Amino acid sequence: MSDSSRLKQQMIAAVESRRQEIIDLAEKILHNPELGYREEKTAALVCAELEKLGLTVRTGLAITGVRADIDSGKPGPRIAIMGELDALPVPSHTFADPETGAAHACGHHAQLAMMLGAAAALVPVVKELSGSLAFIAVPAEEFQSLEYCRELIASGKISYCGGKPEFIKQGVFDDIDAVLLIHAGHDTFTPESFNGFCMKQIIFEGKAAHGGLRPWDGINAATMARQALNMIDSQRDTFDDKDSVRIHGIISDGGNAVNVVPARAELELQVRAKTPEAVKNACAVVDRCIRGAAMAFGGKVTITNLGGYMPYRSCPELNAVHAENLKLLNGGILTNFGHRGSSTDMGDVSMLMPALHAYCAGFSGSPHARDFVVSDPEKAYIDGAKLLAMDAVSLLADGARKGKEIAALPAVMDKETYFKYKEIFTSSEEYNYDKA
Ligand SMILES: [Zn+2]
Ligand SMILES: [Zn+2]
Repeated sequence: MSDSSRLKQQMIAAVESRRQEIIDLAEKILHNPELGYREEKTAALVCAELEKLGLTVRTGLAITGVRADIDSGKPGPRIAIMGELDALPVPSHTFADPETGAAHACGHHAQLAMMLGAAAALVPVVKELSGSLAFIAVPAEEFQSLEYCRELIASGKISYCGGKPEFIKQGVFDDIDAVLLIHAGHDTFTPESFNGFCMKQIIFEGKAAHGGLRPWDGINAATMARQALNMIDSQRDTFDDKDSVRIHGIISDGGNAVNVVPARAELELQVRAKTPEAVKNACAVVDRCIRGAAMAFGGKVTITNLGGYMPYRSCPELNAVHAENLKLLNGGILTNFGHRGSSTDMGDVSMLMPALHAYCAGFSGSPHARDFVVSDPEKAYIDGAKLLAMDAVSLLADGARKGKEIAALPAVMDKETYFKYKEIFTSSEEYNYDKA
């Protein structure tokens, strides 16, 4: 039996011996859901668990992030096993916090339990591996609480609404060679890619006037917003199918009173596409429509790009490692999901290094909805902990041969190019076509 095969059996047994502990931990996190960049209790719990394993833990990374490393003492790549800390606001969820409305409706509590379960199995055998391991809990994946994020950005505490881009900015991933994460889901699969997106806030400013008496004295900001949306809708068939462009949003302010010509209107739009360049190009089209609407009615518009996530590109070599271990664990099949229209900030990481963003089974209901809950703890927590530990063994056993191969794969882009895109997606511009 090779080192790798023996160690994998050891990983399965080690997780098995802690199964109740892992389930209890997951449930504790489930019952203490916290929103992005406010995951204090969750971070403290993760930190305490890592300390129990004898690890030195760094905390307060990008406000609430946690990281602990362990080195084999032999050369090789540094592999990160990652979990996301945040819940999202779904007040009607079965396990929502009654005060904040936060709930683990995306199952991130399971990720943390898997990561900690894998850490407990791997730490005792690290000397039998090569290279090193980092166990990382990242804040704020959900891109929620925009108001709060903007306050944090304004006060200089962070630069981005997403925890992983913020980690990249702060250099937390600089010494990492590849990243592993398993997300809650209905089945064992891995997407080939995810859309990236740019979040936009658009404020139209016009002029108030009496809606019945002298509407011609006003400049209707709500009309500008409506026309902008109409023009964006009319552009849909100009986008190439291969770019998987999706544009969706809300009218967050449409005026104050029915009998007043609205002086202010606000849109929040999300522009998604399959490549960073396609997101950039779709944003340019959207901006033209917005400016066109302001110009037509002689108003003013401010377009603020609030950042976003880069598209995710899967690493076939890492997917193959995960597929092999899934088969070994329980004969499971890792299906290739193809492209997903949604987004994750794992996309940002995947632009810079090989990243695994696999899904596990064990959940029922719709993600982000009130009914997304664990239906099978074995599949939702235990299998994932075993698989993450086995994946790490695949990469770092036998002199880290596989890990070195994967670490040497070329990145999609360098950090400089990455930050150029981040700059475009956080820019802000004002256009004044005031007819007065
Ligand atoms: Zn989510
Ligand atoms: Zn999620």
